Amino acid sequence: MPVPDGTEGEDAVTAPDRTLLESRIRDIPDFPKPGIVFKDVTPLLADPETFAHAVDALAAPFCDDGVDKVVGIEARGFILAAPVALACGAGFVPARKAGKLPGSRRGVAYDLEYGSETIELHDDAFAPGDRVLIVDDVLATGGTAAATVELVEALGGEVVGLAFLIELGFLDGGARIADHRRTSLLTF
Ligand code: AMP
Repeated sequence: MPVPDGTEGEDAVTAPDRTLLESRIRDIPDFPKPGIVFKDVTPLLADPETFAHAVDALAAPFCDDGVDKVVGIEARGFILAAPVALACGAGFVPARKAGKLPGSRRGVAYDLEYGSETIELHDDAFAPGDRVLIVDDVLATGGTAAATVELVEALGGEVVGLAFLIELGFLDGGARIADHRRTSLLTF
């Protein structure tokens, strides 16, 4: 079920405090290359109240539906996905850039806002039918997320949703993952 406004699953406890979250995200112009405005989430991560709130708001729409594994996308996705996994009582699975995982692995290549990349998972990351939530900091063009969905499904996982701290709506990345439920705490 596509949820373009990122508000499904909100209630009084878990609704994202967008003013708080936005106040802890910093724009860095022309990083990592000219024309890109990098969304720097390190101030949010450095503030325990905001970090905890972000984790709760990312987990809340999905945890109650049953999540077996939470996939975090390298690198900032790891930081968010690991506590989301614990909040859901699920395992954490790292989706890594090419050549970083030590075991037998499978990869999918994709384009991103500033370059191209390959994402990999260990090929035994999931038990058959595992319910999988994918977490990352930013949804930009959607290439990374779509490749990760493809990989999880190829390895036997069932993608129950995707959760992002930030969605860059003007890049329309949501269209690439429109077949899946998603939450984005902030949309720019
Ligand atoms: P994409 O595949 O284009 O959706 O890009 C998403 C990935 O690239 C995520 O893992 C983000 O961490 C990173 N990313 C892309 N654009 C930005 C941005 N403007 N600010 C911060 N991270 C970004």
